[in-house]
Amino acid sequence: MQQILEMVKLQQELNDSTNGRGWEKGLTKNGKVIDWKRCIYMESAELIDSFAWKHWKAIDQAPDWDNIKVETIDIWHFVLSLLLQEYKLQNLGSLEDLASYIFSKEAYKAFSSSEAKTDNENMYEVIKMVEHMMYDVLKPDDLTKETSVSQTDRSSFNLDQFITDFFTMALNCGVNLEVLYSLYIGKNILNRFRQDHGYKEGTYIKIWNGNEDNVVMQDIMAKNPAYGVDELYESLEKVYKKL
Ligand code: MG
Ligand code: MG
Repeated sequence: MQQILEMVKLQQELNDSTNGRGWEKGLTKNGKVIDWKRCIYMESAELIDSFAWKHWKAIDQAPDWDNIKVETIDIWHFVLSLLLQEYKLQNLGSLEDLASYIFSKEAYKAFSSSEAKTDNENMYEVIKMVEHMMYDVLKPDDLTKETSVSQTDRSSFNLDQFITDFFTMALNCGVNLEVLYSLYIGKNILNRFRQDHGYKEGTYIKIWNGNEDNVVMQDIMAKNPAYGVDELYESLEKVYKKL
């Protein structure tokens, strides 16, 4: 439960600092429209593209499981954001309440206690699982209704089904709670670091001594698996200052 709560809190902080407080209403502090459902299905498409699903191209290529994991974490950022938004707009409770809601789900129990699978033989089933989750956020009646700029339509959105489908597909994409937590913490801290160092303004340096920043981050995490949020941030700062 502690790990879920930590991620819920980090995502709220990240969204508050990136988009400005009140982003739950559907606009950033710069007036740009936020659509978490679109973020989810677009990242899901990136995930599916890591499967070499095309029948006319690279037909013998194995799934790129490393990238599939990364895309699953990308999706999780937006899943959390959508849940935070729903909780806020529907007055469903605090961040702690959201964490215990996730914790109480049947699919979460399997997710937190099972070995994650990466089975090449199952790739078409896994793609279907991803598509199931995409369907949750992309129901046809969402498209036929005129959607106001500041609020996405929530009438047909089934939170329980969505969470279940996410955890089910994640587990089959090589991501269980343990994997999710360590990859999420690393990525979240890197995202925050980028925002604090001019990412939006375009002044951020992404290549550090010949390596992309996320490679450097993964390296630090691999060498220091016990690092918490602050320690990782400080280590990144140390390298970045010397560039
Ligand atoms: Mg992307
Ligand atoms: Mg992605």
